[in-house]
Amino acid sequence: MRVDVLTIFPDYFAPLELSLIGKARTTGLLDVGVHDLRQWTHDVHRTVDDTPYGGGPGMVMRPEPWGAAFDELVPPDRPPLTGPESVPLDDRAPVLIVPTPAGQRFDQAMAHAFAGERRLIFACGRYEGIDQRVLEEAATRMRVREVSLGDYVLFGGEVAVLVMLEAVVRLLPGVIGNAESLTEESHANGLLEAPLYTKPAVWRGREVPEVLRSGDHGRIARWRRAQSLLRTAAQRPDMLASTAPETLDKHDVAT
Ligand code: SAM
Repeated sequence: MRVDVLTIFPDYFAPLELSLIGKARTTGLLDVGVHDLRQWTHDVHRTVDDTPYGGGPGMVMRPEPWGAAFDELVPPDRPPLTGPESVPLDDRAPVLIVPTPAGQRFDQAMAHAFAGERRLIFACGRYEGIDQRVLEEAATRMRVREVSLGDYVLFGGEVAVLVMLEAVVRLLPGVIGNAESLTEESHANGLLEAPLYTKPAVWRGREVPEVLRSGDHGRIARWRRAQSLLRTAAQRPDMLASTAPETLDKHDVAT
């Protein structure tokens, strides 16, 4: 997978050298380019923002540096797909992900969808956000997705991009040694994971549940499933409410 990140704060992305993302890069599973948006400015102050049309507080990111950046990263190879003859972009077009609190909520299903792409480009907004024409123009050659981390407002898109990249990269084949981790974790099957324990068996008088030390794999699986349901009901009743009844088995009903 090739990932490009456009930002006015490239230093935010130093952690992409670390841990499993860093390893995915050195082993060639992931190729990342972090680009300073200001390299596509032409004035002495390297300006990327200006006051909003229509008034209001704050500043808005000007379109020109974004347009020049996209022209370089994804050169337009055909006429813009606008007007009555427009056709949808095919699924080989890069995906442009624009973090914004006004976007669709990021979740594990979206992470899986992005993990199936060959090329992702992230556009980190700052100030009050990016001039909307940038997204309109980009949509003539990329599949544009406005994505929100959640219902709160950050200073900028950089942290949101780091979050999304972590969620996406760990789903790429070969990045996580034991692929089973990905099927048994929270959000893999509409439930939260059961509580976890490790050694020692007793710590400050607190014992690891006996069933987990029993060696009885059937009992352990049923206990984990029950705990998973209980935890989901307690923490995220919304998830449980949207679980299809046919995905519950007779043990669950007994629970
Ligand atoms: N004026 C914008 C609004 O009200 O929707 C908020 C702009 S915010 C201060 C600046 C940038 O932070 C956004 O352009 C976006 O890149 C990023 N950002 C803030 N909150 C975010 C969120 N919940 N999810 C994803 N990105 C976010």
